[in-house]
Amino acid sequence: MKNVGELNLDYLCLGCGSCEVACPVAAVEIKLKNNVYLPEVDNIKCIECDKCLNVCPGTSISLEGYADTLFAADNSGNKDEVLGRYLSNYLAYAADQKLRYEAASGGLATSILIYLLEEGIIEGAVVTKMSEEDKRKSKTFIAQSAEEIKAAKNSKYCSTHPLSALKELRNFESDAKFAFVGLPCHIQGLRKLQQQEKWLRKKIIFSIGLLCTHSVDYSGTEVILDKLASGSKNIKKLEYRGSGWPGKASIEYEDHSSSIPLYDYWSPYFASYFFTPYRCLSCSDLVGELADISLGDAWLKEIEAEDDLGTSIIISRTKFAEKIIREMKVNGIIAAEKISKDKIKESQKKIIMRKKHTIAYRLSLFKIFSKEVPDYGKAYDLSDQSIFQKFKGYLGAFLLWFNSYLSKKEIGIKIIKFIPRSILKKYSSLVNKAAGRKYE
Ligand SMILES: Cc1cc2nc3c(=O)[nH]c(=O)nc-3n(C[C@H](O)[C@H](O)[C@H](O)COP(=O)(O)OP(=O)(O)OC[C@H]3O[C@@H](n4cnc5c(N)ncnc54)[C@H](O)[C@@H]3O)c2cc1C
Ligand code: SF4
Ligand code: SF4
Ligand code: SF4
Repeated sequence: MKNVGELNLDYLCLGCGSCEVACPVAAVEIKLKNNVYLPEVDNIKCIECDKCLNVCPGTSISLEGYADTLFAADNSGNKDEVLGRYLSNYLAYAADQKLRYEAASGGLATSILIYLLEEGIIEGAVVTKMSEEDKRKSKTFIAQSAEEIKAAKNSKYCSTHPLSALKELRNFESDAKFAFVGLPCHIQGLRKLQQQEKWLRKKIIFSIGLLCTHSVDYSGTEVILDKLASGSKNIKKLEYRGSGWPGKASIEYEDHSSSIPLYDYWSPYFASYFFTPYRCLSCSDLVGELADISLGDAWLKEIEAEDDLGTSIIISRTKFAEKIIREMKVNGIIAAEKISKDKIKESQKKIIMRKKHTIAYRLSLFKIFSKEVPDYGKAYDLSDQSIFQKFKGYLGAFLLWFNSYLSKKEIGIKIIKFIPRSILKKYSSLVNKAAGRKYE
């Protein structure tokens, strides 16, 4: 294979941007195609050096192998199928109540980055905000002040390619240090890049991974804005989360504003994998197993009953991460209490089955239909499954794929928009049951 342009990008590409950074002759550019970011390669410029292929996490990644190398020195040997390697787990939130209210879950990503910056540990952070030019699109940039870091707070439920922004780090002094925030697949790309590009090993000294069920393409945003707000034109500001927890999407138009509670748009339109890139269907990394620290929503009954500001779960993997958490706690910047790994798993129980177990059916289904799947360096075996389990597993796999496929067609989008939300919610619940995810 010549370069990443020859991959089956629909099924393998995560749109991370790693290949764009690795290319020595600037032959790769990440572009928006069919509502997601994908690489476009200029074959005339390409010198067939293989560098883009080597750093691509879409085709292959051994999570265990990388984790062993990255964290072995700091780690006493805690290993878990879902969490990867870890040192400690916490429930935590930012002490700044305004930030906690405005951020995705506990405002921790933003607080940690600001702390690292203000302590002089980093010169900036690679974060993703909504673009000033087109308020419906994401934009990754190097934030160098607390205000800039805050401008990027909150989840972006749309396509992002944060690694592309690492190219800009070449413009900084060679000893300048930075932190990076991204989804599990972005962290995988970062690790592969750091293995190949030594200068990035020195520059990115801290990585924050966000737990991830799946991403959503830009047509998903268009549909929720059309169906539940006042459309996708004349938008001054768009946020997918915030305004408390679990929060709501807030949309400021030229002449009015609108908001949509998280469950009102996520459950009917996103939970059943409408508008989901195919590659998310074959993703097995729920927590960002290769990040120094992972953050997610604390979807726990006791938190859901009492908390309307936001609490996050933290999985920490290095002594440096432990030190930062301890210092921030002592200085009253965050509240944090240690919890067990089982508590972390309880908070993600709806997703674990799908990411770690029923993935075997989706990988198998894709292989049956000659679609390419990533190589995780391990075998997925279905031979111990009963006929009933196999029937349910393949049905769930097919339905997730079908929903993703349907929403990539114009007629499919029309159908999804036509069906009442209450029916879509029930459908979502059924699909998730079949796909091995209990959905309430
Ligand atoms: C697509 C997606 C799926 C998720 N799925 C789950 C899940 O299944 N379970 C769960 O517990 N948590 C999930 N999360 C994580 C959760 O929603 C919060 O992002 C996390 O708890 C951190 O919250 P916070 O308040 O500390 O972050 P904040 O302080 O609000 O900061 C968020 C940071 O994340 C970065 N960011 C946000 N979205 C993206 C993106 N799409 N790409 C790259 N960087 C981004 C921003 O740059 C910002 O720095 C998901 C997040 C996303 C974006
Ligand atoms: S093979 Fe080398 S030159 Fe060609 S696109 Fe990939 S990185 Fe660039
Ligand atoms: S997964 Fe990342 S590195 Fe691989 S082709 Fe896609 S954008 Fe490039
Ligand atoms: S599901 Fe996996 S591939 Fe998809 S956005 Fe999340 S981490 Fe990336």
